[in-house]
Amino acid sequence: MGLLPPNLSKEIRNKFKTIREETHKTLFIDTLPQKADCPNCLSDYNGASTNVFDSTFVSPVEIFGSTITPTNFTRGRCPVCYGNGQLEQEVRKRIKAIVRWNPSGQDSKGDLEKTPAGIEGFNVVQIKSSVEHYDTLRDAVKATIDGIECEVLLPPVHRGVGGVDVVVVCYFVSTQVGHSSRS
Ligand SMILES: [Zn+2]
Repeated sequence: MGLLPPNLSKEIRNKFKTIREETHKTLFIDTLPQKADCPNCLSDYNGASTNVFDSTFVSPVEIFGSTITPTNFTRGRCPVCYGNGQLEQEVRKRIKAIVRWNPSGQDSKGDLEKTPAGIEGFNVVQIKSSVEHYDTLRDAVKATIDGIECEVLLPPVHRGVGGVDVVVVCYFVSTQVGHSSRS
């Protein structure tokens, strides 16, 4: 015999079911590459290499974990940046988030109404994560969620309770055609 009104106990059961389904997963976020000016050459006002050795570069520096040694050159492209004027490093970050594939209901309805027509239910994935990951999600270009490559659908927004930011919510969409996700 239950002490709780039937509706309430049903609600509690549903809540627990939701919590079980919404366990945190690890996902990978690829953000825009980090860039640094090439120390080995002089760049023009656009930041492109002039393919002229920078003679003020005399002692090795460390950029993105690699040691760049001054490499004089007199013709051709700069041997360090290959004429790009900049060095780039891909950035992949690992975050924990609640992942919901093809979300439905009040929680996502308003958000998904902002997306192009027809995209709802098409391998959309809702990500809820800690506010500390806001910047990472904002800078995201791609994500790998449950091993599936995804691109940004809606950028992150803060969700709070009582004026306090609790989570960030954003949406990705699978870029792998024909994949049906169940999780
Ligand atoms: Zn260079």
